[in-house]
Amino acid sequence: MKLFLAEDDAVLADALLTRLSRLGFDTAHAADGLTAQQRLLNEDFDAVVLDIGLPGQDGLQVLRNVRVHKPALPILLLTALDSMEDRVAGLDAGADDYLVKPFEFPELEARIRALLRRHRAADVQRDELRFGRLRLDRAGQRAWADNVALELSARELEVLYILMSHADRVVTKEQIAAELSGDGEEVGANAVEVYVHRLRKKLDGSGVGVRAVRGLGYLLAGTGDAQP
Ligand code: CA
Repeated sequence: MKLFLAEDDAVLADALLTRLSRLGFDTAHAADGLTAQQRLLNEDFDAVVLDIGLPGQDGLQVLRNVRVHKPALPILLLTALDSMEDRVAGLDAGADDYLVKPFEFPELEARIRALLRRHRAADVQRDELRFGRLRLDRAGQRAWADNVALELSARELEVLYILMSHADRVVTKEQIAAELSGDGEEVGANAVEVYVHRLRKKLDGSGVGVRAVRGLGYLLAGTGDAQP
C-alpha cells in the first residue's frame, strides 16, 4: 500500500512516517503544497493524508486541484483547528475524511484503514456488469435477469462474466479457455463448449443469448424475448 503524507511540521511528519512504515505502509512525504500537488498528480497512491495548513499552497487548494484529475483517490485532511468552516470547506472540496490535530496515532491509523476499505469496496462495486436485462456481480458470484437470480455454477458464471466483459465482440473458444485456465488447471475448448451449452439453457427467457459465430467464437446478443 502506497500512502502519501503532506505535512510541514517536521517532527509530526517524522513520527507519522515512522509509525506508518512500521505498519507496512510505503509512505512518500512532501512538506509544502506545491510539491504535494505535483506528486499527487503525477504518481499513484492508495490513500493520502493531507494537512490543510501547508506553505506554498494550502491543503484545501491542493485537494481541489487533485480532485479534478483523481476523483476516486482517498484523501484524509488534517487540520489544527476544529472549525466548522474548515470542515465544511474540506468536505466540499472532496475530502473523504477529516481529523483534527492533535490526534492519537491509532485514530489516524483506523481512519486510513477505513478509507482503504471503502475504496476497495467501491472497486468491487465497479465489478458489476450489465448487458440487456442481465446483471452480474463478480465479487458476489451472482447474476440476475431483471431481478431474478440465475442459478449458475462458478464456471458458468465465469464464462458469462467473460462474455459480458467483451460485450458486442466475438470471443473465441480459446480465449475463454485461457481465461478459465489457471492455478495449474487447464480448461480445454471442449469444456468451454459444455459450459456455453449449459449457460445458454439457463439464459433462456432472459432476453440475452450466447450466439455462436461459426469458426470464430461466441457473442453475447439480445434475443428479443418477451419480458418474463
Ligand atoms: Ca501545517
